[in-house]
Amino acid sequence: MITREDCVRLDAADPLAALRDAFVLPPGVYLDGNSLGARPKAAAARAAAVVEREWGQDLIASWNTAGWWELPVRLGDRLAPLIGGGPGSTVVTDTTSANLFKALAAALALQASADPRRTVVVSERDNFPTDLYISHGLTELLGRGHELRLVDSPEELAAALDDTTAVVTLSHVNYRTGALWDLAAVTAQVHAAGALVVWDLAHSAGALPIGLTAADADFAVGCTYKYLNGGPGSPAFLWVNPRHVESSRQPLTGWWGHARPFAMEDVYEPAPGVARFLGGTQPVVSLALVECGLDVALRADLEEVRAKSLALGDLFLDLVEERCGGELTLVTPREHERRGSHLTFAHPEAYAVVQALIARGVVGDFREPDCLRLGLTPLYLRHVDVYDAVEILADVLATRAWDDDRYKVRSAVT
Ligand SMILES: *Cc1c(COP(=O)(O)O)cnc(C)c1O
Repeated sequence: MITREDCVRLDAADPLAALRDAFVLPPGVYLDGNSLGARPKAAAARAAAVVEREWGQDLIASWNTAGWWELPVRLGDRLAPLIGGGPGSTVVTDTTSANLFKALAAALALQASADPRRTVVVSERDNFPTDLYISHGLTELLGRGHELRLVDSPEELAAALDDTTAVVTLSHVNYRTGALWDLAAVTAQVHAAGALVVWDLAHSAGALPIGLTAADADFAVGCTYKYLNGGPGSPAFLWVNPRHVESSRQPLTGWWGHARPFAMEDVYEPAPGVARFLGGTQPVVSLALVECGLDVALRADLEEVRAKSLALGDLFLDLVEERCGGELTLVTPREHERRGSHLTFAHPEAYAVVQALIARGVVGDFREPDCLRLGLTPLYLRHVDVYDAVEILADVLATRAWDDDRYKVRSAVT
């Protein structure tokens, strides 16, 4: 039997333990940092400084004096090491959905000029819905034989690649199952077929080391409000392999991506470098807070983050096996190489189980059709938190505390 004292000992030896103090955490155990990361303590003062001084007193001067104008590129440079990107390869801007649209369109345009027969976008049927909607919407908008093909497995992916494939777009970690693609191997496989790859790192950025440059990937996008703790709706990132930047054109040709925005010219000319992926005026308050999350993330060694994420996951799974009487079915692959940083279990009453857990201070979430999803965030979660969460989970299952009408009413956000 694993004891709470065992977990206390593991926490005492945790090289990342001190980082927890950089966050404001609710009482109980927060297991939803893969959906909305916790607030860095520094964010409140940063928000106050932006609102009171930069906006309140300095107003328009802040575009220059507070560095508002440079924020998307400067934050991109700070974020880049977390995804294995170099300087000048990344911007923080817009939403993941919008960035995926731009990156996919740019990748399709590169292919259209290299080989016009390549018009097929391949993705995974179980990809996050926005990725599928954006991919489908873009292929419809382009017409010209463009289409989206969906595959259900790595074997089907291999079979789907042919000389009509333009781009493969996948989420590195599946939002529902927590399954992890081998980014380097898939990138090599896609390139061998003559296609380009656009990775969505929403559920991996900040949770594990990612080697975009080492893998020679083409484009990547992802969120800053999940494992990067940028705040609700904080702007997303977009990475472009430097070998594509100068030949890339993206369709949202707004003035922020112009070569000379303040020359106010009447014809668009893309900015040199990754700044051409910017569109219009940025949400400065929200963007500024991204830095507080990055400040903490950059204090951690990503190999240690990954090791702790896997250790927390193994602990969770061992405790569930010991205490939850086979009521939960593990959906996430158990092998380390095949899982991200959240665990998903199937249970026929998953929605009610999640609500009963939340009522007891253990916050996870529900995903259709029957999934209980629990995020493990190494920067602020302790081994004892995992222990306490499984104790409560085991109790909720054993006592059927979930079997109560008030836990079965669905809210708009699950
Ligand atoms: C969370 C998530 C998104 C969110 O996209 P937004 O445009 O920020 O709403 C996109 N893709 C994946 C894979 C996600 O997990």
